[in-house]
Amino acid sequence: MVKYKKENSYEKLNKFEQEEMYKYADEYIKFLNAAKTEYKCVDAIKSELEGAGFKDISCFKVLVPGDKIYYINKDRSIYAAIIGESAETLGVNIIGSHIDSPRLDTKPMPLFEKHGMALMKTQYYGGIKKYQWLSIPLAMYGVVYNESGEKIDVVLGEKDDDFTFVITDLLPHLGREESEKKASEFIDPENLNVLVGSIPDLDEKEDKVKSKILKALNKKYGITEIDFARSDIRFVPAFDAKYIGIDKGMIAGYGQDDRVCAYATITAMLNLIEEGKTLNKTAIALIVDKEEIGSEGNTSMNSMGFELFMTKLLRLRGKESREDLLQTLDNSYMLSADVSAAVDPMHDHLSDIQNGNIAGCGISIEKYTGSGGKYSANDASAKYMSYVMNLFERNNVNYQLGTLGKIGKGGGGTIAYILAAKGVEVVDCGTALLSMHSPYEVASVIDVYMTYKAYKAFFKG
Ligand code: MN
Ligand code: MN
Repeated sequence: MVKYKKENSYEKLNKFEQEEMYKYADEYIKFLNAAKTEYKCVDAIKSELEGAGFKDISCFKVLVPGDKIYYINKDRSIYAAIIGESAETLGVNIIGSHIDSPRLDTKPMPLFEKHGMALMKTQYYGGIKKYQWLSIPLAMYGVVYNESGEKIDVVLGEKDDDFTFVITDLLPHLGREESEKKASEFIDPENLNVLVGSIPDLDEKEDKVKSKILKALNKKYGITEIDFARSDIRFVPAFDAKYIGIDKGMIAGYGQDDRVCAYATITAMLNLIEEGKTLNKTAIALIVDKEEIGSEGNTSMNSMGFELFMTKLLRLRGKESREDLLQTLDNSYMLSADVSAAVDPMHDHLSDIQNGNIAGCGISIEKYTGSGGKYSANDASAKYMSYVMNLFERNNVNYQLGTLGKIGKGGGGTIAYILAAKGVEVVDCGTALLSMHSPYEVASVIDVYMTYKAYKAFFKG
């Protein structure tokens, strides 16, 4: 009789696998530190793929088993595939994850001066607890277009610099009024202004500090104030991801939602086949953007970019009709590779422990997400759950069966429903996090590694 038991399987891994796990975790930490925005993630993933022999889909006239391709959708999402032996219309194996994370974006006209300081106005992106973004070091990452339409890459306040940025917080001594407020009103989002300078430019008559900052930006990047309006500038935590605990059992870092799954998706694909071998089914990795704001926009999972990529892929495999595309989707399997909540020891009354994710007990399979009466949920079928569970068991993947939290206490969504609506069998399957959506999210090393192992097993089928 098989009994379901959640347990940390670290001790069960042999020495070799423990070493492999930490090698993987070391590289994952480097990725988190190198790729803190969706733009940076696409760049990093593209160079990894090219290093492993993947080529832009436009380089091919025909695709044959073993071919390795990628397609970039507008600098902010990237799809990759390894062509398998069987016809795509019989089904492909898809893993979809996202690379946008909660952050602070600058407003179109962000820079202003007040009381001798220059600040930048922001608008938060995704679900954040605003107080967590005060009094922490912030780095500025920007893609800016100047008046001649040239793209300029801006990185300021990160490790290479001896300065950083911060949003100041009120001293407790003057916090009496503030402490009367409800948590939801505690921080006015209009006050999430980032301190960027304080030395006046004495050649100027007014806005002396702001002018000094504009001149510095112009000197370094050739940009002017109006260029802010044609930019994607994000403030993200400036600190590095690191192991947590004396035993190094966990990893904390910004953007693990959902780069932990995106990194696993790509790394699984890179290590999928040995030289000269082929896959049975075509494996497809979808690394998308804009999940945190509801999968809107032309780089999200909802965009036609995916359909365009699939149409190109199928045409290069000799399948040109609309029916071929729909048949492919209808016969395909997908893991919606996104993070979930781990049971927090300080807030465990919000979780149904039996159906919760315990950090360290493996990758989490969630039959459904959404909220309340399964609203907005992709409820994976019993048959497909059976397929995924059996696959993981055969491949010694440590997994647990999770839900986000108690019914009625909240909820959340992923990209699962999007491809499910197109006929694909989909289930949510990813790493459980503590402090999700905070500037320093926490994951267990073993769960991080099991996510990679699970995705590799899934691609192989
Ligand atoms: Mn996510
Ligand atoms: Mn999220």
